[in-house]
Amino acid sequence: MTECEFCTLMKGKMNKVYEDSQIFVMHSMQPATFGHLLVLPKKHVMIIEQLADYEISEIFEKVNKISTAVFESLGAHGTNIILQNGVAAGQNHSHLMIHVIPRREGDGIDFTWQPKHLSEEEMSTIELKLKEAAKNIGAFEEKPAEPVEMDTKVEKIKEPEGDEENYLIKQLDRIP
Ligand SMILES: [Zn+2]
Repeated sequence: MTECEFCTLMKGKMNKVYEDSQIFVMHSMQPATFGHLLVLPKKHVMIIEQLADYEISEIFEKVNKISTAVFESLGAHGTNIILQNGVAAGQNHSHLMIHVIPRREGDGIDFTWQPKHLSEEEMSTIELKLKEAAKNIGAFEEKPAEPVEMDTKVEKIKEPEGDEENYLIKQLDRIP
């Protein structure tokens, strides 16, 4: 089995900008603009549905920070954060990636499209289907609890001050 191109690139630290245990950030080899970055989960997944809720949550918190870094370091006027989920959406690699594209006024990139005109009937059919499918999106898959080390030092809980004073007073009472 041939290994995924992006898993190999990550191992070789290709065009690395940032990495931690979860993600690898690299310069795009085919940048749309100067500073176009790719954020790759280290875990090999093809589509976002293969990640757990908490992983998506953590990865997108980092994507936001990367976008902020692009604003601050490159003086971008805006960023586009793009995820192509599936071949039909323009995904042309088998590894999930999130593009962070720095934008500047008049950079010539155009993501606009011609709005479609939907009939009332089409609208309500779509709405019905989606409402049903979206019923449980509020549920969140939590990160499994980390194993607890038994020898970890537990910080001693401080006694409430009042009790400590009472204790001292009791001690004093005993002094003849
Ligand atoms: Zn991969």
